[in-house]
Amino acid sequence: MRVCVVGSGGREHALAHVMRRTAEVVVTPGNAGIPGSVPIPPSEIDADLFVIGPEVPLVDGLADRLRAQGKLVFGPGADGARLEGSKAWMKQVLVEAGVPTARYGTFVEPDDAHGFLDTLDGLYVVKTDGLAAGKGVTVTESIDEARDAVTNFLSGAAFGDAGRRVVIEEGLTGPELSVLAICDGRRAVALAPAQDFKRVDDGDQGPNTGGMGAYSPVPVAGPEVMAMVMDQAVDPTLAALRAQGIDYRGVLYAGLMLTPGGPKVIEYNVRFGDPEAQVVLPRLRTDLADLLAEAAAGALRSDPGFGPDAAVTVVCASEGYPHAPRPGDVIAGLDQARRVEGVTVFCAGVAAGLGDELLTEGGRVLDVTGMGPDLATARHRAYQAVAALSWPGMHVRHDIAAAACGDAAGLHESDHQQGGQR
Ligand code: AMP
Repeated sequence: MRVCVVGSGGREHALAHVMRRTAEVVVTPGNAGIPGSVPIPPSEIDADLFVIGPEVPLVDGLADRLRAQGKLVFGPGADGARLEGSKAWMKQVLVEAGVPTARYGTFVEPDDAHGFLDTLDGLYVVKTDGLAAGKGVTVTESIDEARDAVTNFLSGAAFGDAGRRVVIEEGLTGPELSVLAICDGRRAVALAPAQDFKRVDDGDQGPNTGGMGAYSPVPVAGPEVMAMVMDQAVDPTLAALRAQGIDYRGVLYAGLMLTPGGPKVIEYNVRFGDPEAQVVLPRLRTDLADLLAEAAAGALRSDPGFGPDAAVTVVCASEGYPHAPRPGDVIAGLDQARRVEGVTVFCAGVAAGLGDELLTEGGRVLDVTGMGPDLATARHRAYQAVAALSWPGMHVRHDIAAAACGDAAGLHESDHQQGGQR
């Protein structure tokens, strides 16, 4: 099978890497660090299967346009992708499908928004309705900060039109969980659970990012929790979409919080998580290209199986991420990092430099995935490889998967020797 992956980040590198076990893969546009990258638009590529990575082209209807050309596509059309394109609509679908979620309101007028904030107690969540690359969310205990977010979002100052409508939610507490389900329009099968780390700094401090690391499996998400997530969230949502005439073929990614009252959906995404894909996909034993082709054809037969190995991904970001990432720094140590046992380095935001050199380009530059027989080994290997990498101002979190490894201090001795501070 010949597969075309659409996108240019670490998630697309991971998709290509894992599908290459059984298929021929090209990536468009890809980047200087992803083998098989071609600067050709997807509509001009000949492939048996198209897998669309990022949310922006999905929301923009790329899957519809490719399907209209007769191509087999894994990824929802614009109708289903609206789940991610509009948080207000997503919340409406959740409520209609009876899926447990946080109490919320949708607002375009500042006074109404401020009035709703006053009805919440303690933890305030303000989100842009539209896409904001994972950054349009403010979670705060300060009502003043919440009010400021409302003002900045609604005025268009912070996120332009994406913020001119806001969703305000009650704050939930508990461990977070990402469940990625492969859907063929009628049936959904869950991939292994993952947990990601959204804040930029250790100890969940600093602003939200696209994600600074992830791990899988998740000890708190046993089979019972996974069954509950599928029965109470993913299956009813897929049925609700179908009832609206939406034939959803792609990933339905449920971002959940395991609250004391049971799992609640925080959000849906319409694509593989980044960096969740970098820990979940390498653990897959099933043929990924076949699985996605079956879903794309509306005929899922395979059930995904996972190996016993654990995976931990640490994201290496450029200086200034997420506010003002600096591009153009030379990346050192890539070969050495790749030689660490069990490690794969996925290229996210890189550009070609002189000769074989790679330069930093985006905010999230490299995703270092370590695998091993348990989370602690996987984590140790990932950080060992991270220690080999460097560029001026490289920033990593040091506590990815630390709590899950039962390492309360958050760091192994060897991790301390690594620079990587902002
Ligand atoms: P989202 O883009 O909706 O996934 O939100 C990004 C992050 O904000 C989530 O991963 C959570 O850490 C946090 N968050 C979102 N909604 C809530 C909520 N209702 N309560 C607490 N934290 C939230």
